[in-house]
This record gives sequence, structure tokens and C-alpha cells, in this order.
Amino acid sequence: MIPFEDMINNPALKFTAEKLRVLQVNIGSLCNLSCTHCHINAGPGRKEIMTRETMTHILRILPNFETLDITGGAPEMNPDFRFLVDEAAKLAHVIVRSNLVIMTQKGYEDIPAFLADRNIEIAASLPCYTEENCDSMRGKGTFNAAISVLKTLNALGYGHDEKHILDLVYNPNGDFLPPNQSELEAEYKSRLMSEHGITFTRLFTITNNPIGRFGDSLRKSGSYDSYMTLLIDSFNPSAVENMMCRFQLSVAWDGRLYDCDFNQPLGLTIDGPQNIADLHEIQKRRIRFGNHCYACTAGSGSSCGGTTV
Ligand code: SF4
Ligand code: SF4
Repeated sequence: MIPFEDMINNPALKFTAEKLRVLQVNIGSLCNLSCTHCHINAGPGRKEIMTRETMTHILRILPNFETLDITGGAPEMNPDFRFLVDEAAKLAHVIVRSNLVIMTQKGYEDIPAFLADRNIEIAASLPCYTEENCDSMRGKGTFNAAISVLKTLNALGYGHDEKHILDLVYNPNGDFLPPNQSELEAEYKSRLMSEHGITFTRLFTITNNPIGRFGDSLRKSGSYDSYMTLLIDSFNPSAVENMMCRFQLSVAWDGRLYDCDFNQPLGLTIDGPQNIADLHEIQKRRIRFGNHCYACTAGSGSSCGGTTV
């Protein structure tokens, strides 16, 4: 296998851009679900949770960025989730990545209104518009729970007005690349409207990264090598320039710094200060790549904001 880094012909693209746009923070691996495609092995048994002290460092550094992108686990399950969202919304555009299902559980039912009041963008995972596929990836009952939350969000203005952006996130249910994003978006829009009366802003398709729980399942089924071959054979040089790591910094639950959320479970910390507590200036840095990076450059490219080409 050709090491991923050797596929990048332009040496400048091995570094971040001069100006970073997004600070992405993973505020814990605790999750109410245990999805098959999860790249961080999140689940109900995980104990890693970001402290408020680490969050105060995030708020200190946030004015250097346009956007705070909050992810998990289920970020809502961090006891200081509301504190972080409240304070961050005063400093930057805020995105919350949610599995939606959590918002049907006791103690979390107020979150849709809380986010709507602060004009927080929601990027909600909904790996399929059919109950059968969705439940097979995320557990029985998850599709109907997500649908009920989407209806609540629509009633609050999400998906309808430009202050309430509601993105849906698709992941393939297996070892294949996502279909064309705009065609799938049209299909999602048509099916969710006709069957449930639901509307949303955009669909992001994300390629499954061969790490974490998804990587383990590939190994167990004996399809790890063929999936890697698919990613490598689908390498698209035009996807290199817009790899999300070139425009962001990623913070783990314990404050450690990474180029992206995929590098976190691999322990690939950045070439620079190791913890946000020690970060005082945002500098251009060399990105730490691995062969899992082929997932970001396959086909139309993939990032937390969908395709990149
Ligand atoms: S993919 Fe998201 S919702 Fe599913 S287990 Fe992982 S963090 Fe939780
Ligand atoms: S996995 Fe991370 S470091 Fe690798 S290309 Fe994707 S965003 Fe960049």
C-alpha cells in the first residue's frame, strides 16, 4: 500500500491553511447509542467526559475561529453541555452534532428549544430514510425516535429559516462509498416530506472511516483489506486541497489536540502543543496523516461537512 502522505504531490497541502475556520471539540465518548459505523466506539458504558475546566480553555481560544463544532458521543450527555453552548454562542457560530434520539430521553427533552433559542446549527445523524436500515445501524426504535425529534425541530423553525440550519448526516450501512450527495439529498427530501412531513436544510454524506467500531467490524468480517483497496482505488487528487484537517483543530475530551476527530482514537496528536491548556496561539502546522486518511479523499471526498469536491 502506498502511504497516504506519498499521494499528496503538492507539499503545501501537507500543512494546514494559514487561517483555520473550525474548532471541533469532542466533549465525551458517552453515548446513548452504539452504532455499527461509529469511529470512536462511543456507547453507554464510556466514561470519558470533558470537564468544565477544559471547556474554559476552549472558550479562551475560540475567538480565533469562526465556528465551534461540538461532537461526541452524544454531546448532550456531558453535564456541562449547556454551559459550553451558551458561552460559545456569544463568541462564534456553533454546530451541535446530535444523534437526535437522545432528545427523546428524560432530562434531554428541552434541548431542541434550548438550541433553537440560540440559533445553533444542528448536524443530525440519520443514516437512512428507512426504518429498517436506520434501526439496523443504530438499534431498534431509533428511527422513529429521530423522526419525532425532527418534527419538533421543524416546529421550532429548524429546516425552515436560515437561522435554524438543520443538516442531516448519511453514513453508508457497510463497506461501500456513499452515493452522490445531491442526488441522495433529493431522495431524502422527497421521502422524509412525503412519508413524515419533515424538511431539512442540507444532507452531508460521509465515508465510513476504517477505524474504531467500524474498523473492528471490517476485520471480523474479513473485509478490511477489500475496503482499504476500494478507498485507495477511489483516491481523488482534487479532494486533497479541501481535506477538513487543513482548516480545523480538533480537541479531545481530555483537552488533547488533534488534526481531526478520526486521529483521536488513533492517538495521532498534532505537531505542536499537545493540550489546549498549553495552546496560546494558532499556528500553521504540518498535518499528521495515516492510511485511514484515504477515507477523506475517496470519490467525491468526505468531511464532517459532507463531500469536498
Ligand atoms: S455514531 Fe454517533 S450516535 Fe452512534 S454511537 Fe457513535 S457517537 Fe453515538
Ligand atoms: S483522517 Fe483526518 S488527518 Fe486524515 S485526511 Fe481526514 S481529516 Fe485529514
